[in-house]
Amino acid sequence: MIAILSGGVGAARFAAGVTQIMEPSEVTIISNVGDDEVMHGLHISPDIDTVIYTLGNAINPETGWGLKDETWRVMEALGDYGGETWFRLGDKDLATHMFRTHMLASGKSLTKITELIRQRWGVEVNVLPATNDRLRTKLYAEIDGREQELSFQEYFVRHAHEPEIKRIVYENSSSALPTREVTRAIETAELIIVAPSNPLLSIAPILSIAPIAESLKTRRDRIVAISPIIAGAAVKGPAAKLMKELGFMPSALGVAQFYRDFISAIVIDEKDADLKDQISALNIEVLTTNTLMTDPVVSAQLAQQVLKLKKVK
Ligand code: GDP
Ligand code: CA
Repeated sequence: MIAILSGGVGAARFAAGVTQIMEPSEVTIISNVGDDEVMHGLHISPDIDTVIYTLGNAINPETGWGLKDETWRVMEALGDYGGETWFRLGDKDLATHMFRTHMLASGKSLTKITELIRQRWGVEVNVLPATNDRLRTKLYAEIDGREQELSFQEYFVRHAHEPEIKRIVYENSSSALPTREVTRAIETAELIIVAPSNPLLSIAPILSIAPIAESLKTRRDRIVAISPIIAGAAVKGPAAKLMKELGFMPSALGVAQFYRDFISAIVIDEKDADLKDQISALNIEVLTTNTLMTDPVVSAQLAQQVLKLKKVK
């Protein structure tokens, strides 16, 4: 079994590559829940859904989130009331959130509900929320001269990740606990891969759960990261900008430094080959290759190289 620490789009693309070369049932995804939010009374788990919809071949390929062949009648009708429509939820997608919310209200865990949702989409990869507890990413920005707290979605969607961020808090991380399933996956995986996801917004919330960070350190030999930063820029989204704002180097070297306590290897893009020596000096093995997953073939090739690096298969 291999485990993947995962955010949304970057992780989903990579996982789609892994499942082309491995039995999906041998793959466990440990998903970020820091982006989760209640909208219109419904519990939304964006990263979990992006991974499930992608692996279920149901993702909207244009946006990388939401379902393909989606309609927007509910959002239109909500707009007619002057309701809040900045966070777009498609008609079919809404059913997922209604199902999840109802199941939560009837006492089921997010882990169990995620299993039911992935089964409905025919996904055999085991998708696990990092925790069943409430963990939320909050960003603090200076807007109009004063500090404002933004929820993840307010920052990412409403403000299009434009505000300069001063600090990030992973709310409730000191009391959140990993699930039994996540602990077991980290302890027993033959290989643990940190997906090319946003280090501060997708991976750090998982690491903010202290027992997870601790057990990852004991598995350092078996942990490989893939850099989401290529040639100093994020493929998509605010990863590089945010790293810079918070004092990290916005490069594959900065990513390696961020993960150095618990990774023994990193895959960086061939465009970043000049960073190899500096990363090796951190006692991290470096593999350079094409990491831009423009199509499923590249994703599968990347996955193959990651497995080979740690002699899995
Ligand atoms: P989100 O939760 O949907 O924002 O997605 P993730 O955190 O999983 O992924 C966002 C990160 O994925 C960004 O920092 C991108 O730079 C990175 N990313 C997206 N596509 C690729 C790719 O093809 N290759 C690499 N190396 N990184 C990618
Ligand atoms: Ca996300």
